[in-house]
Amino acid sequence: MSERLTTLKEEITACRLCAERFAATATRHSPRPVAWFRPGARLLIAGQAPGMRVHKSGRPFDDPSGDRLRDWLGLSEAEFWDQSRVAIVPMAFCFPGYDAKGSDLPPPPVCRATWHDPLFAALGPLPLRIYVGGHAHRYHLGTRAGVTETVAAWRDHLPHALPLPHPSWRNTGWLKRNPWFEAELLPVLRARVREVLT
Ligand code: SF4
Repeated sequence: MSERLTTLKEEITACRLCAERFAATATRHSPRPVAWFRPGARLLIAGQAPGMRVHKSGRPFDDPSGDRLRDWLGLSEAEFWDQSRVAIVPMAFCFPGYDAKGSDLPPPPVCRATWHDPLFAALGPLPLRIYVGGHAHRYHLGTRAGVTETVAAWRDHLPHALPLPHPSWRNTGWLKRNPWFEAELLPVLRARVREVLT
């Protein structure tokens, strides 16, 4: 299975399925898939899609959202970016471009449709899976509920999964309105992350 994972990583990194779609956006960028996983990973971070900064650096969550996410998880940068322990699999592996308001476009569905089934089959049942943001909640948890309702029901998914809001600065107001997130969820999240990584 580890051979299959290595092959998939090479195939995803070489993928250019969205070249025309991205060329038609304001940034006219080319696909740059950020495929971040290795055999033996124990923690899955399932997010949305890379932003522009990650598109440039080639490293997932290499931005202020990532700083906040690492704080939530209680992980150092070295631990977080250790691909043999942490697999980072978004709903799309490339930066999708901006909409008219300057927000990131949604992840192209073709990415999930092309890569997720073979990739998750090869990754196997990781002992802890963190679903970050509404796109990941809907796909991985099969829910139609909003982010607040989904995250508020976090205990339902333990011990092997936890839903989180997106760590973007745009959600700073959400964090203030939902103090239970930092007071109750984060201590449990950090303890589970330590358990599965040690
Ligand atoms: S977003 Fe996914 S499907 Fe589209 S080019 Fe990137 S890796 Fe390929």
